[in-house]
Order: sequence, then structure tokens, then C-alpha cells
Amino acid sequence: MQKLLFFILIVFFSIYAPTPNPAQQFQPDDWREIHAEQKAQFYQKAALNKAAETPNQQRFDVNWYGLDIKIDPIHEWITGSVELKAKAVKDSLKSVELDISPHLMIDSVRMGASKLKFAQGLSIVVISLTEAIKPGDFFNLKIFYQRTAEGNSSNAITFQYIGGISHIWTLSEPFGARDWWPCKDTPADKADSVDLRITVPENLTVASNGTLVKVEKSGGMKTFYWQERYPIATYLVSLAIYDYYVYSDYYQYSPTDSMEIQFYVFPSQYSLVKENYAKVAGAIDIFSKLYGPYPFLKEKYGHAEFGWGGGMEHQTITSLGGYSLSLIVHELAHQWWGDMITCDNFHHIWLNEGFATYSEALYFEQVEGKDYYFAMMDADRYLGSGTIYVPNLTDWGRIFSSNLSYKKASWVLHMLRHVVGDSTFFKILKEYYADPRFQYGSAITENFQEICEKVSNRKLHWFFNQWIYGEYYPIYEYSWNYQLENSFYNLALTIEQSSLSGNLFKMPVDVSIKTEKGDTTIVIWDSLATQQFSLTLDSKPLQVELDKDDWILRLAYQSTKKSASNFLEQNYPNPFFRNKKLESGIESSTLIGYQIIETTDVKLTVYNLLGQQVKTLVNQRQLPQYYTVRWDGRDDKDQSVAAGMYFYVLETNSFRQIKKMLILW
Ligand SMILES: [Zn+2]
Repeated sequence: MQKLLFFILIVFFSIYAPTPNPAQQFQPDDWREIHAEQKAQFYQKAALNKAAETPNQQRFDVNWYGLDIKIDPIHEWITGSVELKAKAVKDSLKSVELDISPHLMIDSVRMGASKLKFAQGLSIVVISLTEAIKPGDFFNLKIFYQRTAEGNSSNAITFQYIGGISHIWTLSEPFGARDWWPCKDTPADKADSVDLRITVPENLTVASNGTLVKVEKSGGMKTFYWQERYPIATYLVSLAIYDYYVYSDYYQYSPTDSMEIQFYVFPSQYSLVKENYAKVAGAIDIFSKLYGPYPFLKEKYGHAEFGWGGGMEHQTITSLGGYSLSLIVHELAHQWWGDMITCDNFHHIWLNEGFATYSEALYFEQVEGKDYYFAMMDADRYLGSGTIYVPNLTDWGRIFSSNLSYKKASWVLHMLRHVVGDSTFFKILKEYYADPRFQYGSAITENFQEICEKVSNRKLHWFFNQWIYGEYYPIYEYSWNYQLENSFYNLALTIEQSSLSGNLFKMPVDVSIKTEKGDTTIVIWDSLATQQFSLTLDSKPLQVELDKDDWILRLAYQSTKKSASNFLEQNYPNPFFRNKKLESGIESSTLIGYQIIETTDVKLTVYNLLGQQVKTLVNQRQLPQYYTVRWDGRDDKDQSVAAGMYFYVLETNSFRQIKKMLILW
């Protein structure tokens, strides 16, 4: 699932980067827009704890559901039945409990020819069986029900009009299937198959899961028979109903075989969506190669447009309220991660959403290249509080936290990729896909961890523990110096680690060293509050950077006090206001810091964009230490300089560094 978010665009002056980097070139798509009110309304349903299976529900395993419902759009009414086939799994079963919202009312329950007694409560119906079912035995129940008139507000089934035509759609994640059909509403128990027989006024078309077997017309109504023959979680069963324009594309998965891709489009939207929809077949191919074959090849993939701002990965038929490519590939990736392998419970929703969010970056890495991948990861950096593991399932907003369940969770996979290495990482995804315990089933974090450990042949508890169950991220402060010994340079690197939680992180950290002969990157394992590393180099080190390519969710900075390098710092504040008088009457100015590590001639000079010298701030021989210089925006003739961009340059006998600053009025 992916909500659209209103993106708050903050325009920065590009002061620090003389050449544009991929992060600046990257334009976020429109799907990050948020409809805050709509979202708040949607999450109001969190009132009841709907998360838990009852003890009774753990005693039977659902095999099949058959829905047979008639929808009256004018009166927003549903009437019909749901049949279920299930197996008793432990003890003998004397009653069956199903989830049902107060918006539905059960008329009767039958087992074969006999009518059963039932008691419908606020969120559960208890059906009494006339005879106890023995463990291992199957049983069938048929529940006749209707939607009550009060069921119109905040509900997993929505009735609306678009262009004067009825539009009915469902969005049941996480606990909404029970709003429109009684069921055992947990992703831990997927039905092996589902049949949907949906009757609507004949001007409407029903898009749903699996294969459309037939359409029957009778008495001004149409009945659509849909069959889902792959295992499916209740929240992924979907209806999207409208007078759609329907068209197809094909995904050719072998020289002789192809699978249909069906698009159910609002006719007025066709010209908008067709361009990106045409990329779906290619995206299926990309994910099939990365993860394993598209999981529902014998059926279809499709999009059904719906009236919600976002997307929902309904199995084989994603519901879409937007058409950006990142939204399209996000929902498509869920067919593998979320639909084929479903989080066993919503504590572990990151296995759905983190994977789908990361899949966006992987898709664009394939299509646009590695720079684009890193730019997308950069956009998903989240440095706030909270664990990725969802502690409380009654808070739906927390389950779908875009910062934790989506962004930071996608960073977990990004980091895992670097921890185990590229080839092992993609082997892990393929192995996870193929493991019969999880394929078409469900999984929790520890199941995925086990696959990672097996494929990489290393213990990874520490990794998942700190990133899934722990908060925050490491903060690295580092310093370095070197000594020349027998024509080798011994580099001493000290890393001090801290975090906002107080916990320390264990991570492999890339150390990139610029030397006189070239650049080199080595990996060190950092896990302590203070850790020292000795490295031998055959060339003089000039610059040391930690995690230069951003493989770790972290902050890193070079300690200004202890470092053994020359450096020039960014001025502060920047930009600064030349003519703005502060209340104290002191004219605004900016501070420039720099450090030199040997006694040398030092020149610190400000230039304008034409390269003309504006102000000499320092021009003398200095001892090795850290200095700060204040500049008030006046030139060598004591005149205020014009507003605009300036360069400042630190020069010694062996070192030169340039930075930009901006002066405003
Ligand atoms: Zn999603």
C-alpha cells in the first residue's frame, strides 16, 4: 500500500555543490503527496483492537472462501453469502469464530442442509457447530449476510460517484475485509483459493483477483465470476467496480508464452495513464529477473483505478489512485513481497512495505543507473525515532508509518546489500522467494533473517536486532593522522561512535582514502564507542572519508579538534545578510574555520565570481592549529560588497581548498 503525500518543496540555494549531484537532479514523483484529512479519517477505524486471532481461530485453517454477493450502489447495500471450507487443526472444534464488523448483519448460517446457531457480537460472530469437528477433518459453512444502513462511514468498502457513475471499491488492509465479508481476517491464514461471484447493475464492470471465468447477464444485472487459484490473504481480496474502459497488454515470459496484463481505467484518465502503464510489462520482467518469476503467471496482473489517493497491491489486480512510475512499480513489487510472501502479522509490515519501497530503487537502478538508485535512497533517509518493528497494532497510522515501515525499512535492505555483498544479497532474495515455507505463505522478520544467514553463511542477529528492533542510527566522529615508516605510511584512524538511543551499532564501514598516488577504499568493522584502526599505505594520505557512498543510515563527521588534516570549513551562517543590523547593533558577519597541520604560509582570500580578489582575510605564517576568522562582508577598501555568490580559498605551501558562500541583502 502506498499513500500519496503532498510533497513540501523546500528550495535550497545550491551553495555547497559546484556540480549538480544525482540527488539534486532527482525529482520525487507525485505519489508522495498526502491527503491528510482522508488519511486521518481512514485511520479512525483503529478504535478496536482488530489485530489478534482469537484462540478459537487458531484451531482451524481456512482452505477456501466463496463469495456470492449482490451490490446495490444506489442504496449502498450488499447482500449475499460467503462460504468457507476449513480444517480443524487441533482438538475437536465445537464452534467457529469469524471476524465481522458491526456494519454487517448475519441472517443465517448453514452447514449443509442444517441451520446453525450463531451469536454476532461487536467484532466476532460465534457459530455453534451441531457436531464437533475432529482435528484433520474438513468442514463447510455458509454465512448469509447483508450490509446494514449504518455501514456508510469509514469503511473498507466505499460507494461513490465519478462523473455520475457509481464507483465501488474496497481497501481492506489491514483489518477491513470483515467490513464487507465475514472471514478469519488474518494474513497468517491464507485461503488456498477464493471464488468471487459479484452481481452489479449491468452498466458496471467488476475487476477482481485472479481470472475472470465468465460474465452472465440477467434482469438488468451482470454477474462476474472471478477465480483466484493462488493462496491469498483476506486483506488482498478486492473489488473495484465502475464503467471502466478495459484494455490489455501482454508480458511475454518465454518465447512461446505470455501473460495478460489487464487495465481497468477511468475513461477520462486513459490518455494520462497509458504511457506509464505501457512500462508495466517491462517492470514485471525486471522484477522477475531480480526476484524470481512473477508469482501469478497462470492468472494475470492488472491495474484497476479507484477513488483513493494512493495504491493498494491487491493480488493480481493493483488498485491505483495515481499513475507515477514509482507508485506503479511499488505496487507491482508487492506481488512478490506482500502478496506471494505476506507479513504473518502487521508487526512485521516492513517485510511488505520496506521491500516494495526498496524495489522502487532497484527498478530505477536497472532503468536509470546507479546514481539514480543512490539518489532515491537519499530521498528515503529517515533519522528520527521509532522502531521498524510495529509495537502496537491498534495504531494503524503507526503500522503504515512512511518513515519507519517504508523509508527506514528500505534502508535496512540497502544496508544489508552492503553487509553481505551484491551477489549474496540478490541470492538471498531469490532464496527467500523460493523457500516453500514462505512462498505463497507468510513470514516474520526472523524467517527472513534465517534465509539471510543461510545464504550468506554468517550470523546476522545483530544486524536485524539493531535495525528492526532498535531505534536511530550510528553517529561517527572520526579523526586520523599518519607516520612515515620505512617508506610506508601508517595511517591511524580513530572512530568514536554514539547514537541518540545510547546503543552502539555494529556495521562494516567503508573508509575511502585519498592518497598522492590515487584513491582506495577499505572496509572496517566498527562496533565500539571508541575504536582505533591502523592501516599501512604506500602513498601519503591526503583525505579520509567514512561511508562515502552512503551505504549506512548514519551521520559522520571528521572531528575538527583531533584531525591530522588541513581543511577549510563551510562558513557559518551561510547565506549571511550583509546589511542586516542585529538588534544589538552589530553588523551581520560570517565565521570561517580552518585547520593547518604544519607551520606554513597561510592565505585565506575571498574572490567574486569573476575571479577578482575581494578581501584578504589571512596572509601570514601560522603555527599548526585550528583557526576561525570572521568576515563582515567588506572588501579590502572597507566597502560593503554586492550581494551574490563568492568563493573563499585557503592556500598553504602544499594545500589549497575552495568553498562557496552566498551573501544576501
Ligand atoms: Zn506498499
